Amino acid sequence: MNQTNYHSHCTYCDGRADMATFARWARAKGFSAYGFSSHAPLPFPTAWTMEWDRMDDYLAELNRLKRRYEGAVELYAALEIDYLNDEWNPASEWFQALSLDYRIGSVHLLYDAKGNVVDGDLPAPKFAKMVLQHFQGDIEAVVKQYFDRANRMLQLGGFQILGHADKVHYNAEWYSPHIVEQQWYVDMVQAHLAEAVRQGYFIEINTKAYDDLGVFYPDKHYFSFLHALGARVVVNSDAHYPDRIESGRTSALQALSRAGFSHVAELHNGKWSDVPIAPFVSVLL
Ligand SMILES: [Zn+2]
Ligand SMILES: [Zn+2]
Repeated sequence: MNQTNYHSHCTYCDGRADMATFARWARAKGFSAYGFSSHAPLPFPTAWTMEWDRMDDYLAELNRLKRRYEGAVELYAALEIDYLNDEWNPASEWFQALSLDYRIGSVHLLYDAKGNVVDGDLPAPKFAKMVLQHFQGDIEAVVKQYFDRANRMLQLGGFQILGHADKVHYNAEWYSPHIVEQQWYVDMVQAHLAEAVRQGYFIEINTKAYDDLGVFYPDKHYFSFLHALGARVVVNSDAHYPDRIESGRTSALQALSRAGFSHVAELHNGKWSDVPIAPFVSVLL
């Protein structure tokens, strides 16, 4: 029944419950597969990323829970790795050396003109303040940098799932209404998604904000475009709270069905395959 999630956080990074609690919820909610993808360490401390000295414990705890839940829920070990720069990104050798089932590549960070690393993944009011403070209000420059960095991440590789593509759209639209309808913006999103599909990445349909904001990342406006490209999509909740592990899931499957998708990609028994979207979802259309 497509009850899977491969993007989630726990107290090893900024998730709000420990790994064992999330595993328990995944089983209680009938998940067949559930992947942990803590925010990978950055070369400086943050409030939301894992520290390197916890990596061994992270992987050991995952292995313990994999055994504990064998036959009940397939648990997977992953990381959500930031593209920081050409040295520190999903392809970096220290991430490639880790024993993981898959990797998610995401962009959260930007650089301002002074070379400061700036968090670009913020609630809308804070995002607006950041654009004014660090980019003199130039929202176009922020959006363009976001996509330039995401495109560079695609080139460098080292990951399988493109995390929350075009996540900037909600904040950009909040800052500058109708910006996402402008042709240059649409062209940029489409070029990015087309390149990701061409290179064989799975495109995540991130449902984290759906219950609160009514949006997916990428926006559902692009679902039929993705379908026409032949994209393989993975529906992920990016949950930070146990009671949110399936939020937005059914709505995303419905929206994908409407856009022409008949399958989603799922990882089972260590192998990715295209699994039909369950009929009950289509009935609800
Ligand atoms: Zn993320
Ligand atoms: Zn995440």
